[in-house]
Amino acid sequence: MAVAAPLWRPLSYRVAPELAPLINPLTRLLVPVRGKDRLGFALGPAEPGDTEGLKPVSDVLDEAGERQLIPPALLSFFSRTAAYYQAPLGQALAWSLPAGLGGESAGAVKAPGRAQVAWAAWRQGPDESAPRPGTQGASLLELLHEQGPLALDSLRERYPRVTALARKLEAAGWVTITHRPVVKDLTGRPILPEPEPEAYTTEQQAALDRLLPAISSHKFEPFLLYGVTGSGKTEMYVAACRAAVGAGRQALVLAPEIGLCLRLEGLLKDRFGDDQVAVLHSGLSPAVRRGQWLAIARGQAPVVVGARSAVFAPLDNLGVICLDEEQDESYKQNDRLRYQARDLALLRGQEQSCPVVLGTATPAVTTYWRAEQGKLAQLTMRKRVKEAVLPTMEVVDLRSAGRLYGGFLSVQLKQALEKTVGAGRQAILFLNRRGFAPALICPACGKRVGCPACSISLTLHKEQNALICHTCGHHQPVPSVCPSCGQSDAELKPLGLGTEQVEQILAEQFPGMRLGRLDRDAAANPAQLRKVLGAVAKREIDVIVGTQMITKGHHLPGIGLVGILLADQALGLPDFRAAERAYTLITQAAGRAGREGEAGRVIVQTFDPEHHAVRAALAHDPALFYEPELAERRALGYPPFSRLVSLRLEGAAEAATAAAAQALARALERTRARLEPRAQILGPAPAPIARIQSRWRHLILIKSPTASAAASILRLARHQAGPPPSGVRLIIDVDPLNLL
Ligand code: ADP
Ligand code: ZN
Repeated sequence: MAVAAPLWRPLSYRVAPELAPLINPLTRLLVPVRGKDRLGFALGPAEPGDTEGLKPVSDVLDEAGERQLIPPALLSFFSRTAAYYQAPLGQALAWSLPAGLGGESAGAVKAPGRAQVAWAAWRQGPDESAPRPGTQGASLLELLHEQGPLALDSLRERYPRVTALARKLEAAGWVTITHRPVVKDLTGRPILPEPEPEAYTTEQQAALDRLLPAISSHKFEPFLLYGVTGSGKTEMYVAACRAAVGAGRQALVLAPEIGLCLRLEGLLKDRFGDDQVAVLHSGLSPAVRRGQWLAIARGQAPVVVGARSAVFAPLDNLGVICLDEEQDESYKQNDRLRYQARDLALLRGQEQSCPVVLGTATPAVTTYWRAEQGKLAQLTMRKRVKEAVLPTMEVVDLRSAGRLYGGFLSVQLKQALEKTVGAGRQAILFLNRRGFAPALICPACGKRVGCPACSISLTLHKEQNALICHTCGHHQPVPSVCPSCGQSDAELKPLGLGTEQVEQILAEQFPGMRLGRLDRDAAANPAQLRKVLGAVAKREIDVIVGTQMITKGHHLPGIGLVGILLADQALGLPDFRAAERAYTLITQAAGRAGREGEAGRVIVQTFDPEHHAVRAALAHDPALFYEPELAERRALGYPPFSRLVSLRLEGAAEAATAAAAQALARALERTRARLEPRAQILGPAPAPIARIQSRWRHLILIKSPTASAAASILRLARHQAGPPPSGVRLIIDVDPLNLL
């Protein structure tokens, strides 16, 4: 029988008669490969035939009687995925499984028990039984009154005997204690049920009138749900899931990051019941993830919420796939199998005959174009549900802004900041550069201190008193003399601005303001992230300085002002998607301002106020961005008007790496001429970051009119050029997002 191991060709094995009935397509097996037992996947049932000379299958890993970990129905989906991303099928399958199910010991896996947590909420009680002021009971009541329902276990640190305390308050009629699994958001607060809307808005109803019939027809149909922030897209996902589940099918909901997954999890569990919803994302412990995967494979949870890897969830009866924030680059996996979950969601919809809904307020340029071409049905929602007004947008032209306060605040932004904080609201200052300064420069020789292993400058981190490489993580003490020229009386100077420096200068200039920072240093782990977001939510912070971590969908109702310190930062990247990133970033950041109550204010500082990405975001007019952007891409032949495949050769020896890149490029040039003369081979050239972790990097780019032509050109060229020499690695990235 044929087995996909992490090798290019399927292998054939003999099956013992007692194992044969256990084997289906995609059943996990242990098979001997070069003398060692490896994980493999059956490509079909065991068949009678000539088994002369074949080695036997060592064992079957999927438990008898259980549904297997990857349903047989997904064979075609996985085969097409592996072929598209040019990965061996067995490898693609192994990589899509959660850690621990890759064949090590399947028997040890247990489904998780559901934790029951108590949940206390304040309510008005009879006056005579009020706990005396100053007691723990009074303090707990006050806390619940301020913060809303809280999980009892989160209160234990403050009230060691919280259960007894809460029971007493409950007996006196002051609180209610409910038992239910609590989904907490990233600020550590339980996600409260969002009430089912009494009626849909006209725009929501129009979208559903189109979507629900598509779900009942059990056919593939792709939709773009194009709705401004706050237009109520989430309720559309709920309605779509309900329609699918009501028809006896399953629903898959994808979100780009954990914070959004948590909100969807809370909402869907509330609407469908806790046991109907399974979750898959990297915020779960490996054991919980395995348990969730098993529950899904066994058909125990018809609704699945997760981040990008959940696109592989073992559902075999899908009725709908919803994918929120479709433009988000986190849908792209950047190692091992370099897939794009949004594209795979569409492929899965095709394979499993169900509609796919891509939701966003700022579609990716490619998605926008496909909708314009009629390849996606467009559902548009232009109005916010709660009549909240869009924030006012102002631009500051840094060319004529004069001296900047503290080196980064224009007069307008400084005044807006003081006014906002003075009025008791909060502000976000956005700068997409963490650390104190992106470089340390020697005034004597003009050289920057570089990473010994990568070809980039080291970033100064004052808090850690270190120079850190943002590419490989290399860490070193701050040198007192220049490592290049050794001049000892020339003091090394920080060059440029990072979030740490912004926070420090604000602290010096505005001593009364309570400051916080949200970037990968300040929120290096989920607990720290929760702490920072929690402090913002509790209004313990007036101004938060952050990188793009802050622009993601966190619900922070107190924000009245968003200041973008330097919009050009995104525009300056040597990448054809720079404008798209800038447009999305400004629009998303603006979405954080004034979510509830008063309108918010957004101030964008830039050296290029005429840029179409800046102008469109400021005018709340998407066409001002997409139309010129598409014209530019068409002229330059970039996606969506071509398909790209990036090929990176990496090796410790520079000459051998360059030679391997030359050889592959020559083979590509020959196959291109033969197979698709309209395609182009660009490079080889040293990558913009020429060396990372002591490995030299050379890039080749295939630019092709179609994805299939690019794939055939590459397949044939690899065959002709053979594998790269030892010590050199070839990394294939189909539809790359990162061209550095
Ligand atoms: P989006 O995802 O488009 O940014 P949300 O789905 O978060 O918007 O909706 C914004 C808010 O409006 C949420 O608080 C949601 O509960 C509420 N909402 C959605 N639809 C309705 C409706 N039909 N009636 C009342 N409130 C609604
Ligand atoms: Zn480095």
